[in-house]
Amino acid sequence: MDKQRDFVLRTIEERGVKFVRLWFTDVVGTLKSVAIAPAEVEGAFTEGIGFDGSAIEGLTRTYESDLLAYPDPTTFQTLPWRGDIDPTARMFCDITTPDGEPAVADPRNVLKRTLARAADRGFTFYTHPEIEFYLLKSSKFGPEGPQPVDSAGYFDNVPGGTAHDFRRRSVRMLEDLGISVEFSHHEAGPGQNEIDLRYADALTTADNIMTFRTVIKEVAIEQGVYATFMPKPFSQFPGSGMHTHLSLFEGDANAFYEAGSQYQLSKIGRHFIAGLLRHAHEISAVTNQFVNSYKRLWGGDEAPSFICWGHNNRSALVRVPLYKPNKGQSARVEYRAIDSAANPYLAFSLLLAAGMKGIEEEYELPAEAEDDVWALTDSERRALGYHPLPASLDHAIEYMENSELVAETLGEQVFNYVLANKRAEWRDYRTQVTPFELQRNLEIL
Ligand code: GLU
Ligand code: MG
Repeated sequence: MDKQRDFVLRTIEERGVKFVRLWFTDVVGTLKSVAIAPAEVEGAFTEGIGFDGSAIEGLTRTYESDLLAYPDPTTFQTLPWRGDIDPTARMFCDITTPDGEPAVADPRNVLKRTLARAADRGFTFYTHPEIEFYLLKSSKFGPEGPQPVDSAGYFDNVPGGTAHDFRRRSVRMLEDLGISVEFSHHEAGPGQNEIDLRYADALTTADNIMTFRTVIKEVAIEQGVYATFMPKPFSQFPGSGMHTHLSLFEGDANAFYEAGSQYQLSKIGRHFIAGLLRHAHEISAVTNQFVNSYKRLWGGDEAPSFICWGHNNRSALVRVPLYKPNKGQSARVEYRAIDSAANPYLAFSLLLAAGMKGIEEEYELPAEAEDDVWALTDSERRALGYHPLPASLDHAIEYMENSELVAETLGEQVFNYVLANKRAEWRDYRTQVTPFELQRNLEIL
């Protein structure tokens, strides 16, 4: 650790860094930032930087509002969009109480705690997200609604198009920040893009997703467009999901891999999937945290609506992708419900906890879904045991309220905060008249 700190202090000196931003994330998943002068950094490593946590969503109870932010030196990076003149750097922080206890409501700490539990059982958790988002001409719009930047589709190469330049510039910036990109392409909706990050341990991935969202927003500003991670901005076009590939390693060995078994999937892998399926309802209010999230899940276009798994089945909630023979290390499962607006620290914590529960309790994996699940009738799906995901945020809240797994994983304070926050969101939306409703009712009533 001391070596890392020395490296940071030396780099600040050598590059003439003028501002250091301390980053952390609130319970809803919004990035927070406080800038300190380079001279403060050494002290921040040893004593933390004090701040009033009561101003941050869900971070404290009002009677214990003083918190400390300790920068994690392994996350030091200079921010490319700030330019070379008076460079600015950032580090992610761990939040503690004044007596040095990890703050219970720090999402990064929730994930660290969950990863430590898995590590006690010998597992490291890796994730690889496919992040979808829309590029719009502007966040402001008139009666015709938001305007995407192009009218291209899946994998389209748009000559002279905004999206192409946009992806090239974003990928370059991400690489400058030490974030490897595996894949990027135009998605199915007009103005919709996808960028896939290379797999990494879940804490690094969650930090990378927070950085990713900032990079995408910054590049959009630079190019005079607007980027949105809203799960379903258009009812007539696909939503933006964040399908995430999950794997567990035991030392150097992929614990999901077993040569010769069905789909080379080990017993541990099968139990893990069974855990994801059994707890999918309960974790929904976190993996899909907005009212709008359920418009994506129930809006068709390859978003999963039913709880089942399948080998390469894109209509299933959990997909076991095909991987090349003799590539056991890449054995993984893809969870398709989670969307691009989730808090990655909390969502990854719950996905891991659900899978680990499956392993601990040796849950039996149900039969795989071979059909296109959307094409079946309701009664066919019922007969096969493919239950629907929650239909809306209020259903998801009900499941979460009764979930021991979620309460235990998030801890009491985050659990209660998320519930209160989601209930308030549901109430606000329910009592509002939407422009769509207004227009329709005024036409017919
Ligand atoms: N956009 C789709 C979703 O909302 C996914 C499309 C794809 O398979 O990449 O989940
Ligand atoms: Mg996609």
